[in-house]
Amino acid sequence: MKKKKRICVISQGCRLNHSESAELMNKIKATEELQLTMDQSTDLVVINTCTVTENGDKDTIRLVNKVNQTCKSVKIALIGCQSQIKQQQLLSLKNVNWVVGNQSKSDVMDIIMNQKPGSYMAPFTKEAFFQTSSFDPKHTRVNLKIQDGCDFYCSFCIIPFARGPARSRDFNDIVNDAKQLHQLGIKELILTGINLGTYENNGATFYDLLEAMLTIHPELQIRISSIEPTTVDERLIDFWNEFPNLCRYLHLPIQSATNTILKKMRRKYTLLDYDNFITAIKKKRPDICIGTDVIVGFPGESDDLFHETKTYLSESLIDYFHVFSYSERTMAHSRKFDDQVPQHVIKQRSQTLRTVHLNKWQRFLNQHVDTVQSILFEQKKNGVWVGTSDQFIKVRVQSEMALKNKRMSVRLTSVQDDFMYGELL
Ligand code: SF4
Repeated sequence: MKKKKRICVISQGCRLNHSESAELMNKIKATEELQLTMDQSTDLVVINTCTVTENGDKDTIRLVNKVNQTCKSVKIALIGCQSQIKQQQLLSLKNVNWVVGNQSKSDVMDIIMNQKPGSYMAPFTKEAFFQTSSFDPKHTRVNLKIQDGCDFYCSFCIIPFARGPARSRDFNDIVNDAKQLHQLGIKELILTGINLGTYENNGATFYDLLEAMLTIHPELQIRISSIEPTTVDERLIDFWNEFPNLCRYLHLPIQSATNTILKKMRRKYTLLDYDNFITAIKKKRPDICIGTDVIVGFPGESDDLFHETKTYLSESLIDYFHVFSYSERTMAHSRKFDDQVPQHVIKQRSQTLRTVHLNKWQRFLNQHVDTVQSILFEQKKNGVWVGTSDQFIKVRVQSEMALKNKRMSVRLTSVQDDFMYGELL
């Protein structure tokens, strides 16, 4: 019998990449000539790359070097966003045989098995790549891809170039995937895409899809992943009121809290628009956890402008924020600005904001001490079970029971760093 080729898939970057890698692994499992693995004898490694920040680019090079050190005789295929943007540079890396762009990446197995080394870049089409969705059994909470690409072209962002225009998956396909995942015992689905709120398929909107997801089963919890501020409105409040299985969580990237920088970023809202929206939500549903992303050191961000952003984030109704240091991206419009902020200033400002974030997040967590929350447990780490609440509180619990993929009532007892301890009821 012919020896099976041993293959490994590694995913970098966002939820969408992880969902696509899960689908790829599923395809590999169904291919007779291939065996999914990761050890020194691996023949082929597929890396699903990210290029959203400079760190994403560096991580790919580090990973390729690590694979070359670990596996003696290996061929590497790089797929995904960085492959789309930096084909030639990536092809020159040791043992990188194939560089496959985003539109072709669902064909990567065919390319590896049948095509000679080189770069494979199909033009973007109206169809989203990876039209199906499966899951990696390692993950309890499953990313469900509903949409891809973006037409917004924010000036700092490379994604519209790396992933192409906005395309939405077929409504019925998504609902069927969700039903199947529910039947397999999945308890939380995370609606995933690049610009989720722009979902549109044969007249069905994001809200139509959300309603269809929420009515599959009351015990199937639905989480909306990061969503652009201008693409959703106060209708979300009705959904939270009507459907207890919609996670009390909203991640709404603000990027900057000054109108000067928002305009240069080509964002579609003012600070007042953003603030009015989150105020309306918190007024009617104070229990919704609101998080955001902020970019530090965008060109032209003076000390005063940074201070404005810091003050807003400290005082606003936002509960947590992820801080990203600005880095110049190939193709993004902002690389043309000549008022770049020095690296050491960006580093210092990022650190300052991360401290503000931790203080705010701990304030949110402390408000939950002595409350009872429903926690979905994911894994046992260092002898302690770790799970997540629908408000995205990470909770650790001591228990001898097997809790993976179980939803349990937990009394939250104390806060440490950015998580909480609790006791099973
Ligand atoms: S909305 Fe802006 S930041 Fe988000 S993917 Fe599109 S261009 Fe990038």
